[in-house]
Parts: sequence; C-alpha cells; structure tokens
Amino acid sequence: MLKLADVCVSYNHIEALKGISLEIKKGEIVTLIGANGAGKTTTLMAISGIVQPTSGEIKFNDILLNNMSSDNIVKAGISQVPEGRHIFSKLTVKENLEIGAFLRNDHKEIKNDFEKIYSVFPVLKERNKQIAGTLSGGEQQMLAIGRALMARPILLLLDEPLLGLAPQVEQMIFKVIKDITQIGTTIFLVEQNVHLALKIANRGYVLETGRIVLEGTPDELLKNERIHKAYLGE
Ligand code: ATP
Repeated sequence: MLKLADVCVSYNHIEALKGISLEIKKGEIVTLIGANGAGKTTTLMAISGIVQPTSGEIKFNDILLNNMSSDNIVKAGISQVPEGRHIFSKLTVKENLEIGAFLRNDHKEIKNDFEKIYSVFPVLKERNKQIAGTLSGGEQQMLAIGRALMARPILLLLDEPLLGLAPQVEQMIFKVIKDITQIGTTIFLVEQNVHLALKIANRGYVLETGRIVLEGTPDELLKNERIHKAYLGE
C-alpha cells in the first residue's frame, strides 16, 4: 500500500532522513520506533506532504506522492493525527468531527461515518455538544483520531498518540487503535512507548539518526538486545 524507497529529507542542508525505505501493507499496524530526534515525525510529515523529500520516492498504491499537496494526499486516502492532538478547543466535539470531513461532499456517507466513529468512541457521542477544550486528555486524543477518521482514510498516521496520557487511558487508546483496523483502516504508528507499540503492531521499524537500523515482527524486535538496551530500559 505505502512504499518509501531511499527517502532523504533535509532541513536547511541538515539531513534528518538519510535514505529510509519501508513498506506498509493493507490491514497492517506498522510501528516506527526511535529516540527523540531520530526522524520519526519527519517521516510522517514527508508521507503527508508537509515536508518534501530531497530524493527518493514515496508511493501510495503506486501513486507517487512526492510533490503532491497535502490536500491531495488527504484526498488520496492518507490522514495524520499530529503529535499534541491540535483539536479545535473552542469548537464542540461534533464541529471538530465535521471539520475532519471538509474535503468530502458525500453527505449521506458522512452521516454514516459519524455513527461509525461514535460506535468506536461512545464517549464522543455522549459529549458531542461539549466544547472540545473541556474534554480530558484521553478524550481529546480520541477526538483527534476521530476527526482524522472523518476524512475516511485508507491509511492513518498516528504521531505519539499516548504522549501525556495516564496508563489506564493508554490501554483504552490502544484498544481503539486495534478497533480502527477492524473498520478497514491501515495504521502507521509512531510511538515512544515501545512496549505497548510492539504489543499491537504486526511489524516494526527502528529509526536511529535518520536511518532504519532494524525491522521485524514484534517477537523478533523484542528478542533484540539493542532494542532492550535502547528502548526498554533493561
Ligand atoms: P521527537 O520524538 O522528539 O518528536 P522525532 O524522531 O520525531 O523526534 P524529528 O522531529 O523528525 O524527530 O526530527 C529529526 C531531526 O530533524 C532532529 O534532529 C530535529 O532537530 C530536526 N528537525 C526537525 N524539524 C526541523 C525543522 N523544522 N527545522 C530544522 N530542523 C528540524
């Protein structure tokens, strides 16, 4: 579904990604693991068209995404939930979800998708008239994910969805991420909580200073000494 081949990204001549290649197949949850500054967010931003690769290719179902605008990338089926959620805190829950569908004009289907999202996140239905800024951190994260789902993505990019959440809430968000694959959305998950990420992912890639240094199934990665030392604090 998504293929990155030898992708490089630079900020003012400093290379943040130094030729990364990875693949995500339909229906998978793939995680990208790495320390602060490794280039994880840059990878997501390159996929969603916010930064442009200086070389290499990003292909989504054989369509070349390089140089495509972010709007067209959303239309092609890729949505991103940015780190820090960025919900519209003065608008209601429902209004935030409506904004997620702003590039669509299939009004009947949008109505159905509201119901689908409310079935994955019942709390958003209960609070649909509530001002988003008054939701708890976990609820805001659900709203950010729900809003991205309103664009009906084929591929959802999640940037550190657990950041700043309490442990019980982390478990809830993780269950939701699994449920999303049940409604047919593929997931690329950037997460610092390596333990949890490897619990739900089908495969993982490890990024270190702009290079993929390891890839494998959660079992393979969990057996790796480098992973234990660097990311599991053992
Ligand atoms: P974090 O977990 O802290 O978000 P990350 O793995 O997502 O880290 P990136 O944010 O992609 O890493 O950053 C990769 C490198 O690019 C870092 O060295 C960072 O300082 C640099 N970088 C990121 N954004 C910019 C920018 N707008 N201008 C210049 N350098 C940047």
